[in-house]
Amino acid sequence: MGNATWLDAEVQPVSAVFTMRVTIFLLCCAVAVAQEPASLEARAQRYLIDLIRIDTTNPPGNETRAAEYLKRVAATYGINAELLGDKPTRLNFVARLAATSHSEKTRPLLLMAHSDVVPADKTQWTVDPFSAELRGGFIYGRGAQDDKSLLAAELAVLVELKRRAVPLKRDVILLSESDEEAGSTGINWLIHNAYAKIDAEFALNEGGAALDLRSGARIFQIQTAEKVPTRVILTAKGTAGHASLPRSDNPVVHLARAVTRLADLAQPVQLSTTTRRYFAEIAKLPDYAWLEPLLPQLEQESTAAAAADTIEQRDPELNSMLRTSVSPTMLAAGLKVNVIPNKATAQIDVRRLPNETRQEIEARFRAAINDPAITVSREPGQEMPSTEPSSLTTALYLTMEKVFHEASPHAVVVPYMSRGATDGSYLRQKGMAVYGVPIFLREGGESRAHGNDERISPENLAHGTDLLWKIVTAVAK
Ligand SMILES: [Zn+2]
Repeated sequence: MGNATWLDAEVQPVSAVFTMRVTIFLLCCAVAVAQEPASLEARAQRYLIDLIRIDTTNPPGNETRAAEYLKRVAATYGINAELLGDKPTRLNFVARLAATSHSEKTRPLLLMAHSDVVPADKTQWTVDPFSAELRGGFIYGRGAQDDKSLLAAELAVLVELKRRAVPLKRDVILLSESDEEAGSTGINWLIHNAYAKIDAEFALNEGGAALDLRSGARIFQIQTAEKVPTRVILTAKGTAGHASLPRSDNPVVHLARAVTRLADLAQPVQLSTTTRRYFAEIAKLPDYAWLEPLLPQLEQESTAAAAADTIEQRDPELNSMLRTSVSPTMLAAGLKVNVIPNKATAQIDVRRLPNETRQEIEARFRAAINDPAITVSREPGQEMPSTEPSSLTTALYLTMEKVFHEASPHAVVVPYMSRGATDGSYLRQKGMAVYGVPIFLREGGESRAHGNDERISPENLAHGTDLLWKIVTAVAK
């Protein structure tokens, strides 16, 4: 596989074969750069195709090849850029266009996207996931949605600012980070070792989405908050013995009860600035008129759970914005059918509301399980931070509202909390306002991010790039 070949080449001592491969690779890229298309939108498409063809499946990532590609494009236009990180094959890319006037004290705008992608099972795809094939009006490829389309649009905007020598009142930084999908080591390295290079007043990131509703409204969901992945382990302990004599301390039985109690436990309903505004805005639309009588009930402790249950029956995605979620996913116990084991474990995927702490969750779980044979513990390793939602009154948020309203006569712009986590949370923890920017439309109402046959239409990419251009110039010019 191309990927394995490149990985081998990178870890082996320099050889003739390696030199030749690098030369061919550089020549190909030189050709690609030399044939830079003329328009902003065409350039975004060129960059997306090139980026999809650079396989950055994580693991192992090999994001340095994407970073080197970005650096070559930047160099073509005289944009200063550097590759940063501590692992030679997994470098981040940072480029900066400096402000041309410093009359106002304005801090930088950060455009960020990750360069790695999740694995693609080729047997489940109808095209090669790394070919960027254009078929039936779509560009197919792993990363076409998550997150190389955003990266391509951001690069195209940066290049356009430079080409047109747009006067800037603030620095515009482009960050392409490694390892978002597996360990967030890229963003964490930058935060701990080179934060000044990415520090900004606010950032545009993945996590937002635009959707067309049946009523004709187009809803732009600006991600300002995200649920916090919180892995919980339940461990049941008992006494091992022959299965012919049932025991009351059988850990399999205790664990099964505990898992059922957690799954059945109604998680409390809580609203934040983001979700309160989200529900209030969408309830004004004909598609969600049914929500309106439920909203006052969500605010009252005595009626909130019942209201959320009603919402769940109609729209489980909306319910997930109101509560911490609990999904048991992995079970382990026993080695032989005729032996009662002395231990059984369950792993629970919890997505907690950012205004709840891990300690609160664990205490609630222990109380619900109510069984001394069960311990509730956390999965070891790094935990994602839990932060306040980004502000709805920054110049960047207000600009996005304005641009989206101008772009679509039936636009509804709302702040949004995503179920999935992004690297934006690490920057929010540093005090930066980070927004998942909804420039791309969810085509056909579906998301294929992390799925099979991931794709985006060239029109969607072009339209989104144009929206990004309008946002960036309005905020940075
Ligand atoms: Zn992503």
